[in-house]
Amino acid sequence: MTSPARLRVAPSPTGDPHVGTAYMSLFNLAYARKTGGQFVLRIEDTDRARYQADSEQQVFDTLRWLDLDWDEGPDVGGPYAPYRQSERLDTYRPFVEQLLADGHAYYCWCSPERLTALREEQQRTKSPVTGYDRLCYGKTREERAALPGFSENPVVRMLVPDDVPLEFDDIIRGRVAAPRPDDQVILKADGFPTYHLAVVVDDHLMGITHVVRGEEWISSTPKHVLLYRMLGLTPPAFAHMPLLRNTDKSKISKRKNPAARLTWFREQGYLPEALRNFLQLLAYPPVEGDSELATFAEFVAGFDWAKVNTVGPIFDLKKLDWLNGAYIRTLSPSALADRIAEHYAYTGEWTPSAAELETLRAATPLIQERLTLLSEALPKLQFLFTADDDVVVEEDAAKALNEDAPRVLDAAIPALEALESFDTASVEAALRAALVDGLGIKPKFAFGPLRVALTGSRVSPPLFESMELLGRDSTLARLRRFRTSR
Ligand code: GLU
Repeated sequence: MTSPARLRVAPSPTGDPHVGTAYMSLFNLAYARKTGGQFVLRIEDTDRARYQADSEQQVFDTLRWLDLDWDEGPDVGGPYAPYRQSERLDTYRPFVEQLLADGHAYYCWCSPERLTALREEQQRTKSPVTGYDRLCYGKTREERAALPGFSENPVVRMLVPDDVPLEFDDIIRGRVAAPRPDDQVILKADGFPTYHLAVVVDDHLMGITHVVRGEEWISSTPKHVLLYRMLGLTPPAFAHMPLLRNTDKSKISKRKNPAARLTWFREQGYLPEALRNFLQLLAYPPVEGDSELATFAEFVAGFDWAKVNTVGPIFDLKKLDWLNGAYIRTLSPSALADRIAEHYAYTGEWTPSAAELETLRAATPLIQERLTLLSEALPKLQFLFTADDDVVVEEDAAKALNEDAPRVLDAAIPALEALESFDTASVEAALRAALVDGLGIKPKFAFGPLRVALTGSRVSPPLFESMELLGRDSTLARLRRFRTSR
């Protein structure tokens, strides 16, 4: 039995959460649950220039929506609180002092202008040496102040030794090599630690046993391993998940892809369980044989890092659409109706009254079979929530009618008026008898005008069921009104 592992996800609140945050949370959480350990949510808000105030709440909301819940975090607390890095500034300082005292770090007063000029010069001359040139290393403040490009507030840099280990063991990739880092800033001029220092200090203090993050952090890992060594600490295990890619293999970015924003999926009407399943399949084989649908519990039960694939998974929304439809069909109609109502309450587009909710429940079985997104429900069912006098005939629906329409309506209305019971079967039998048998019109032309009269569109949920749902009065009112307009 593996000992309980502690894992974390550590998003930076720099805007609408990225889909990668959910993807990372899913795999971190799976292993925490598998080993009976904990999953921690830590907010890495040390980059004040990119900080966005509402982003943190969006992280909470979207991860909870996906049911990727954390055991410790800024909003729920925990034994290692605070879980927001901006509230831990005093925690980092002694680690910086220790690195300075041990000669593993040094102050640097180089101005941003000097650093930019240095970088440009290295690029222009295609210098084999890149990164910081250690001008400040070994100098006192006074010595450095005598040279150009001096700024009052220093940063602290780590002194990367020649023997910096550039290889590390990755749980899913095996031995991984990364390029040599330069002397990274660990404490900024504003007194905030950089990501590199804060992540190492916090992962250590919070007892994180496994750091599972995106492939884009591989190049940072030697810096972190080195910091652990300099501080005399044992590093955690590392795993770098493959980066999500578009179908054209490009990286998913919030600037280019709406689907990079986690809230986008909710706005579109995806079910959280479908999105979770989709994210799982991106980097992991189907849990059981050919069935791609798996609950989180099933995923956790057999979870194994060895099964994670390392080749860039393709973010194919068509696959997600398919999964979403499949999940929609696993719900009971009444559960689906609730999810539809929740979706519209979330987007603010529609808050059904109690009566409308009842209608929605009754109508859901009619659309469940062909629904891909929750957001498609209302357009399909709008006619049920429209007053009889407000039904508007869409242009293409009007065009599709032929000269049979008045005859059809004239025969349909009395046939329906004569019905004792207005249920689906009776309605269908009466209309078939009056129109198909009575008038000799093919079903397609016989029922088309009725559909348009009822819903205003050419396509609608099944006609006879829709009539039963609307009821006798509404159905007849719509047919008569449409007849007068012809
Ligand atoms: N704050 C980093 C991010 O935004 C965390 C990276 C890590 O997991 O170490 O992705």
